[in-house]
Amino acid sequence: MDLKNIFEAFRKKGHRLTRTRKAMVRVFLDNKEPLSAAELNSRLKNLSVNVNKTTVYREIDFLKKELFIREIELGDGMKRYERWPDDHHHHLICVECNSVKCIDMEHCLVNEEKYISEKNNFKIMEHSLKFFGLCENCQ
Ligand SMILES: [Zn+2]
Ligand SMILES: [Zn+2]
Ligand SMILES: [Zn+2]
Repeated sequence: MDLKNIFEAFRKKGHRLTRTRKAMVRVFLDNKEPLSAAELNSRLKNLSVNVNKTTVYREIDFLKKELFIREIELGDGMKRYERWPDDHHHHLICVECNSVKCIDMEHCLVNEEKYISEKNNFKIMEHSLKFFGLCENCQ
């Protein structure tokens, strides 16, 4: 979905399209990687949209409710937000600069899930994986 379609969908639901809201949607579309509220704020500033923290959080809540973004916890105590994914994916977290990257895995745990499932008589619906280490810049 591109910007126009997303705005149109919001409009149809009767949601207002403020400048901030539009800018936030744009930031999430342009960004493949998860962003913290602070990072989000600075991206908004780059688009010449100056908003306070409260507004940013309110918009985050809105976009979460609309299932446009999701909140992720990556174990470093910081909440990050990313575009609601159409794919199953995982994250690389740099312990030095805290940057986060979304990654695909070719055969993600298909066999492991089957094994765990059978061994524990547990129906697995989802799993999440995080890899901690040093990014290209920090090595
Ligand atoms: Zn790094
Ligand atoms: Zn991701
Ligand atoms: Zn997986």
